Amino acid sequence: NSVFNHLVQAPEDPILGVTVAFNKDPSPVKLNLGVGAYRTEEGKPLVLNVVRRAEQLLVNDRSRFKEYLPIVGLTEFNKLSAKLIFGADSAAIQENRVTTVQCLSGTGSLRVGAEFLAKHYHQRTIYIPSPTWGNHTKVFSLAGLSVKTYRYYDPATHGLNSQGLLEDLGSAPPGAIVLLHACAHNPTGVDPTLQQWEQIRQLMRSRDLLPFFDSAYQGFASGSLDADAQSVRMFVADGGECLVAQSYAKNMGLYGERVGALSIVCKAADVAGRVEGQLKLVIRPMYSNPPIHGASIVATILKDRDMYNEWTIELKAMADRIISMRQQLFDALHARGTPGDWSRIIKQIGMFTFTGLNSKQVAFMTKEYHVYMTSDGRISMAGLNSKRVPHLADAIHAAVT
Ligand code: PLP
Repeated sequence: NSVFNHLVQAPEDPILGVTVAFNKDPSPVKLNLGVGAYRTEEGKPLVLNVVRRAEQLLVNDRSRFKEYLPIVGLTEFNKLSAKLIFGADSAAIQENRVTTVQCLSGTGSLRVGAEFLAKHYHQRTIYIPSPTWGNHTKVFSLAGLSVKTYRYYDPATHGLNSQGLLEDLGSAPPGAIVLLHACAHNPTGVDPTLQQWEQIRQLMRSRDLLPFFDSAYQGFASGSLDADAQSVRMFVADGGECLVAQSYAKNMGLYGERVGALSIVCKAADVAGRVEGQLKLVIRPMYSNPPIHGASIVATILKDRDMYNEWTIELKAMADRIISMRQQLFDALHARGTPGDWSRIIKQIGMFTFTGLNSKQVAFMTKEYHVYMTSDGRISMAGLNSKRVPHLADAIHAAVT
C-alpha cells in the first residue's frame, strides 16, 4: 500500500488544462484558443529570427562556459532589462536606486517579489484586480501574502470600472500592496487610459499603497515597447517606490526558456543595495541561481543595436497580426448578424479577447465546435488565423443564438 494512497486526484490547471483537453480531441477541426502563446498565420509556434541569430552567435562563441550564474543572474541581462522597462534615460537607474534580479520568467519574478515582501514589508495584504490572471492568487497567497481584490472590469460596459477601482483602492489599508498589469490586462484586454493611470497613481501615492507591476506583454499590446511601458514609467518618474516583474515569454517568444526579471525601485541607492542582499537570501534556498541560456539570448539582442531593431520589427509584426485577427473576427460576426455588441473585440488590446461568453456557452462551443478556451470566455487571439476565423465565428454565433 503506497504512502501516497490518500492523495485525491488534483484538478487540471484552469489554463494549461485546456491544452490537455485539446490534445485528447481527435477532431480535425479543433481549435486551441486557451493558452496565451503566439501562433503564426499557419497556426504554428514561432521562434523569432533574431532569437535564432542570437543563439547561433552563442553556440559559435567558444569562450562561453556553462558555469553557474551568480544568485542574481546575468549582470548584463539585469541592466538591460531595467533599461528596457524604465527607459534609457531613467533617473532611477542613473541614481542607482534600482535593483534587478534575473528570475524564472514572469511567474518566478512575481514569486520572488512576493516572498521578499512577505518577509520584509510591513503590510502583507496585496490587492489584485477582479478578474485577473488565474495564477496571481496562488502565487501571492503561497508566498504568505493575504490576497484581496479590487474592482476592475465592468461587465455592463465591457470596459474599466474606474469608479469601483478608485473606491476599492481608496479604502485599502495604508501601505497595502497593489498588483497592476502594466499593459494588456489578462484576461480582459482592458487597460486604463493615461489619464486614468494618472488618477490611480495619485490615489496610490496619497495612501502610500505599494505598486507591484506585472509586465508580461511589453511591446505585445501596441507593438511599441515604450508605449507599453508608460504606466510603469509614470510611477517611477514620481520618485516613489515600486516592484516590477518582467517576462520575455511573449515579447521574445522565449516561453520555455523561462527568462524574466524582478526590479525593485527604491528611494535611495543604499536601500537598493540592501534590498538586493535580501533578495539573494530569498533566491538561494529556492533555486540557487537562474539558468544561463535564455538570459544570454536576451542580453545578446538587447545590447546590439541591429539585433534590437530586428526584434522590434518582429515584435510589431506579431502585435499587428493579433490586431488584424480582432478585426477579422469582428467582421465575421457582423456579417453573420450575430446578436450583441461585439465592438469589444476590436477595442480590447493584447493577446486576449474577453468575449463575455459564459461557461455554459464555452462548454457548448467546445462540445459542438471543438473550440477550446478558458471557461471565463477568454480567447487567445494569438491562436487564431484567417483560415479559422469563419469556424470560430460560426461557433460563437451558434452559442449566442
Ligand atoms: N502575468 C500575466 C498577466 C500573464 O498573462 C502571464 C502569462 O500568461 C504571466 C504573468 C507569466 O508568464 P511566464 O511565467 O510564462 O513569464
